[in-house]
Amino acid sequence: MRIPVIAGNWKMNKTIEEGKSFIREIQPAIEGTDVEVMLFVPFTLLAPLKEYAAGSNILIGAQNIHQASSGAFTGEVSCEMLKEIGVETTLIGHSERRQFFGETDETVNLKLKKALEAGFRAVVCVGENLEEREARREKQVVGDQIQRAFAGVAAGELEGVIIAYEPVWAIGTGKTAGSDQANEMIAFIRDRIKVLYGETVSEEMRILYGGSIKPENIEELMDMEDIDGGLVGGASLKADSFIQLVNF
Ligand code: PEP
Repeated sequence: MRIPVIAGNWKMNKTIEEGKSFIREIQPAIEGTDVEVMLFVPFTLLAPLKEYAAGSNILIGAQNIHQASSGAFTGEVSCEMLKEIGVETTLIGHSERRQFFGETDETVNLKLKKALEAGFRAVVCVGENLEEREARREKQVVGDQIQRAFAGVAAGELEGVIIAYEPVWAIGTGKTAGSDQANEMIAFIRDRIKVLYGETVSEEMRILYGGSIKPENIEELMDMEDIDGGLVGGASLKADSFIQLVNF
């Protein structure tokens, strides 16, 4: 059985105090959940929130890593640096990283390999943009992203890996992919994983949907056979909506 995941991506939002107050508010409301809860927060919040959430069921993760351990990479942070503050979970290849910071399938692959080598858990993001969807190329695009992201990664390394399917046209736009549409793409990704790694890995791999998830649509999405959870931007910023998502 695949344990459901609700993961919040705070992007470049919240101060340390706002983050602590969010955790204070959600903690009692999600204490008994069977859902795995993750929060991907800005770098400055990682150490304080990691400490603040200690002993709870909230996993604090980074939104990005660099593929090198150290060096002349101004503005970047390595897995080793994150490990030092007890953070061993990261997002990789979020569409905003690809769109605004030049990340490619190749850097996603390098980052994934680095994360796995460092013993990190990783949520690898894939998804087509509007133009690709309108040209009906979404499967080609996402299939290629998967193939390239996982190139050179062995089946035995995948235990801590989660995939998030996030159609770019649905992120922060209020447009959610229909639950059938999202499930179809996630089933397709599961099939690609089966081709690459076999049935057992593909059945165990958790694959999330992301794109304008909110309390009003979470239940319908989670009812779908292949959708194992959500990666949530906007609706993860408010405690009350995040609680509703976790307790879907
Ligand atoms: C995201 O940032 O990964 C995301 C899905 O954002 P939103 O929920 O706001 O569409």
